[in-house]
Amino acid sequence: MGRIRVLSPDMVSFISAGEVIDGPWSVVKELIENSLDAAATHIDVEIKGGGIDSIVVSDNGHGMAHDDMPLCTRGHSTSKVRNREDLDTIATYGFRGEALASIAAVADLHIVTRAADEEIGSKLVSRVGETPNISSASRPNGTTVGVTDLFARIPARKKQLGTPKTEGQRVVDVVMRHAMPRFDVGFRLIKDGEVILDCPPEQSPRDRAAATWGAEVAPHLAEVHFTKDSITIKGFLARPLVTRGTRAREYFSIHNRPVEDMRLSTAVESAYSTLLMRGRYPVCVLDISLDPMRVDVNVHPTKREVRIKDAEEVASAVRESVRRVLLEPQPSTFGQAPEDTLAEPSLEPFLMEEETEKPGVLSSSADRHPTTAAFSLLEGVSLEGVTGETGDDIVRVPALGGTFRIVGQVHNLYVVLEFQNGLLIIDQHAAHERVMYERLRRQVNSGALPVQELLEPIVLRLQHTDAENVLELADVLEKMGYSISGFGGNEILVKTIPDVLGHQVSETEVISIVDEILGIGADHASEHFMDEIVKITACHSAIRAGQPLSKDEIRNLLVAMANTPNRYSCPHGRPTILRVSTQELEKRFGRIGH
Ligand code: ADP
Ligand code: MG
Repeated sequence: MGRIRVLSPDMVSFISAGEVIDGPWSVVKELIENSLDAAATHIDVEIKGGGIDSIVVSDNGHGMAHDDMPLCTRGHSTSKVRNREDLDTIATYGFRGEALASIAAVADLHIVTRAADEEIGSKLVSRVGETPNISSASRPNGTTVGVTDLFARIPARKKQLGTPKTEGQRVVDVVMRHAMPRFDVGFRLIKDGEVILDCPPEQSPRDRAAATWGAEVAPHLAEVHFTKDSITIKGFLARPLVTRGTRAREYFSIHNRPVEDMRLSTAVESAYSTLLMRGRYPVCVLDISLDPMRVDVNVHPTKREVRIKDAEEVASAVRESVRRVLLEPQPSTFGQAPEDTLAEPSLEPFLMEEETEKPGVLSSSADRHPTTAAFSLLEGVSLEGVTGETGDDIVRVPALGGTFRIVGQVHNLYVVLEFQNGLLIIDQHAAHERVMYERLRRQVNSGALPVQELLEPIVLRLQHTDAENVLELADVLEKMGYSISGFGGNEILVKTIPDVLGHQVSETEVISIVDEILGIGADHASEHFMDEIVKITACHSAIRAGQPLSKDEIRNLLVAMANTPNRYSCPHGRPTILRVSTQELEKRFGRIGH
């Protein structure tokens, strides 16, 4: 006798529920997506006990017709696709018609809905294992779906759930992941009676970010809008002052559908590269749109993963889109969050309005100002308005906002200055890197980059392919001050280097420069490539972290900064100066009220 049997519809939905419903967060995800598909402009989510006890999602979308009620909780029943072709251009979140059926298979479910074009609404009450009961009900148009006692009759699944606290946290996360990219839609999340999130519809992206990610993130947001071929990347990222210890704030969506994809995370993280400390992750929300024919959303039951044709190209576009934004000089409003919105008031990037010179207050002693050997690179720099004698602690730098007393250096990394309203802390390497970067760029642009002929050319022994690759770049490198030639086999001769690198550049240093240049890996004729080389050169010619500085050298650094555009961030977008106000110190030490 044959042994194969066709499973009952109940068994089928129970089995597929195992794939679709992981826990409260996935119920919430499916219900939010249904509401978005119903063109809701406001979605309310309320959970109790981490969503294990109950979940209620209400929307003001187009609702369901009375006739649809018996079908909505049946497996593979959907209003969103009809045929194969529809799948290729799917614009809705749902299409498998499995969510409500899956939920009904593992929890008690009630739905109250009214279609916009019907006078009377409907109500469906479904208990696990029983036929749903359908009746009439009244409601403004829209839908409310309530889910109670998730997995109550499936002890094995229930055991796998986390505590209400962790499950609740996952729900918060999934709501934020949907709310962040859809700032056109209002979202409210109530957790055990407490309003966790309350975002009005049509919110500005910045306000939405403040509401979801926290007020401290909003001032550091930068917009991403990038198109390459048929790929468009849009969204926001936080400049690297704001990072997280996990990937929990890396949000990606493809055609607005939230997805998780390590390739996208890797692309973004590599764009931040050295801007992130080890173990820190960026904060971003990026939506990718591309030719719908290149995306297959039908590969995962919860549609969390999608298959992309030529995913590498998409990843590299994402990388470039982020990179570009991080390279932009920061707008001057950066960091000017109203103080009371800062969750943890602390060091702010220094962005004081530049003080206008008050003539006669202190006379300029520019011509008496010494340039020391350590900073022979100050040529071309105007010393106007800078005062202070050699050995003086006091230095007046109007461009940085006034008169400072040089307190000294900390850990050979930071320069500390005192001024009337507090302290400035300067990252000596980052600040000088910006100085060198701007200077080099000027020199490269004007075609007058001073180079230094090496007395003894440096011979580099590279991997064979590396040697070939470097030689291919000889023309570009020449423009950037590095003239190189082949020396047979894997060897390369470096004959000149940009003058700014100084006289004692070692072979190891040149090798590491070459390594970094090879690592840029972009289109070699591009602006971007040249810019990267300028950055690499700037980095290697800047004062090192760890280098002790005399007061004169500190003064010279300040002078150089005063003459440098974009001085408040290094070429990678990190801040160069932090300010701690006297008020902040007083607050911290309890000298004034909180
Ligand atoms: P899918 O979303 O894949 O179509 P679901 O099981 O999530 O499958 O939902 C089944 C159907 O129920 C949907 O196709 C839609 O017609 C209807 N529906 C579900 N939720 C809502 C809602 N909030 N508003 C309007 N219609 C809904
Ligand atoms: Mg759905």
